Amino acid sequence: MAGESGTSHTEKVYRYYKCLSAKKRRGCKFKPVKKGWIEDLVVTHLVNVIFDDDVLEDIANTLVALDRKESDAIPLLRKQLFEYRIVWRTKTTPDGFPSGVSFKS
Ligand SMILES: [Zn+2]
Repeated sequence: MAGESGTSHTEKVYRYYKCLSAKKRRGCKFKPVKKGWIEDLVVTHLVNVIFDDDVLEDIANTLVALDRKESDAIPLLRKQLFEYRIVWRTKTTPDGFPSGVSFKS
């Protein structure tokens, strides 16, 4: 579906959604639908779906699981930072730069 608009001879703008297949004249017979009508229909449907107790519980559980997953990543990142610091300390020049990397000519 693609949004389109047209202006009548009275300068009134009509907004509607049209099937992409119909728009490209690929044989679809569905007529365009009025913007307000289909948007109200979609919003009403989404509200009915989203505010269902089971759906809300699923969303909450998914968010908690994602939060835990991110928390699990922190110890790993700490470990990597620690290892990086050891490599930095053992392989740096007296100037504090990693050996093998030259910042001076
Ligand atoms: Zn179509």
